[in-house]
Amino acid sequence: MALLVAFAGAAENPALKIYKGERRNDTVYAAKQYVIAITDPGAKATIDGKEAHVYKTGSFGAQVELKPGENKIPVQVQLGKKKTKAEVRFVYLTEKPKPKPVKHGAEDKDGHFVVGNLPEQTAPLATPLNIYTKEGAYMQYGNGGDRLGGSKMNFLDADIPLTAVGETDNLYQVALGQSHFAYIPKSSTEAGGPGFNVFNTGSVSVANIGPCDRITMSLPGRLPYWTRSEIDPSTILVSVYGATNNTNWLTQNNTPEMIEYVDLRQDESDVLTVYIRLKDEYQWGYSTYYNGNNLVIDVRHRPASLELADLTIGLDAGHGGEYVGAVSPSGIAEKDVNLDIVLKAADMLRKAGAKVVLTRDGDTGPSMTERKAIWKEGKVDLAVSVHNNASGNPLTPMGTSAYYKHISNRALASDLHQSVLTLGVANFGLTGNFNFSLNGPTDYPNALVEVLFMSSLPEEELLSDPEYRTRIAEKVVDGIKNYLARVKASVK
Ligand SMILES: [Zn+2]
Repeated sequence: MALLVAFAGAAENPALKIYKGERRNDTVYAAKQYVIAITDPGAKATIDGKEAHVYKTGSFGAQVELKPGENKIPVQVQLGKKKTKAEVRFVYLTEKPKPKPVKHGAEDKDGHFVVGNLPEQTAPLATPLNIYTKEGAYMQYGNGGDRLGGSKMNFLDADIPLTAVGETDNLYQVALGQSHFAYIPKSSTEAGGPGFNVFNTGSVSVANIGPCDRITMSLPGRLPYWTRSEIDPSTILVSVYGATNNTNWLTQNNTPEMIEYVDLRQDESDVLTVYIRLKDEYQWGYSTYYNGNNLVIDVRHRPASLELADLTIGLDAGHGGEYVGAVSPSGIAEKDVNLDIVLKAADMLRKAGAKVVLTRDGDTGPSMTERKAIWKEGKVDLAVSVHNNASGNPLTPMGTSAYYKHISNRALASDLHQSVLTLGVANFGLTGNFNFSLNGPTDYPNALVEVLFMSSLPEEELLSDPEYRTRIAEKVVDGIKNYLARVKASVK
């Protein structure tokens, strides 16, 4: 902790607290540092003798240029004639010690990996190990991991036999045929079973079963699969590893609503891809799972009506309970800001007649798995998670951003992003292939909005204002409306 030497006098002297952020001690390795402090709103402040703007939250700050060695930066606040002084101590070392290698840990409550950014070494297993997938298993492309974990391919149903040929501390490397490999968390597998198989496919059927078009592929046993969507043309692809096309007919039982056609493509001798071309430009999600040994792909229909009054919207307020998220310099918790915006947006959506499914409506912290289950069971037509960001320059506006994982959700994320931008805030960008847990499901369209930065003093001031949070909620709702209007316009 930075040493704080306060010369506080009488009780009515203005408050002064130095914000230390994530800095755990005085030692720094860059000459440019931020000094952020909090006082009473309305006080005047100086840092290193220069005046600093005090925001309505009481936060103020400045960038200072350090000289090598010890630096003591004077901070002073004044309210009327009363003054409070403090010093912020930095020890600036021009040479940084070599970082210790860190290993990434398990996914935390927020769907983030706790630490680490170094790819782990994969060690081959002396004897291949037969394993089964358990509930919640997923594959990732590589063994790397960052704050959000390694890039995920997709979730897998339970009881799929696989063969592990390598391992890291937390992952098995599994063989998906002659030349394909993926990684799967050890915690979502159990030992046993016949191992990875190669099978001839049986019959394949396509049927309109009401809320979705269902593709069923009969197989002698369960095989792993890789799912993804494409836009332009709108397509869903499900590659089945170990499958050999032995299907001599592909039955269409009745007229599918979303599916233009299904094609089976044996791109490689041991990978069969189910190519699903859609009629609509925009997708409403798909679910891939086994019913016995039949691989089922449910492609959701476009809702019968695209009016808000006929739709179910999923909303998620990030963090909650003991998981506070980012905390602003003046002490505002991200979980509270997220919840307020979401409750306001939910109110507006309900007034428009929509059904709203919230992952939390109070100060609770459901797990990522629980949040996804709430949305799936609530049969949401689309879902939006609301967070606020942190990091970067605390003295300037950092801006708003939106995120999606699957390319089919890019339009939704973009419409939300464009809508929030009309507040006149800075643009922090639109990010794809994002590994946030709630962007993982393919069952319904989803996107994440990181409204503003808790750590930016001007944005902290905006977020602390309940009226401004109402305007943010309006923009989130407008983003959803704009997306629905876009889809409506695209329907032939
Ligand atoms: Zn967050």
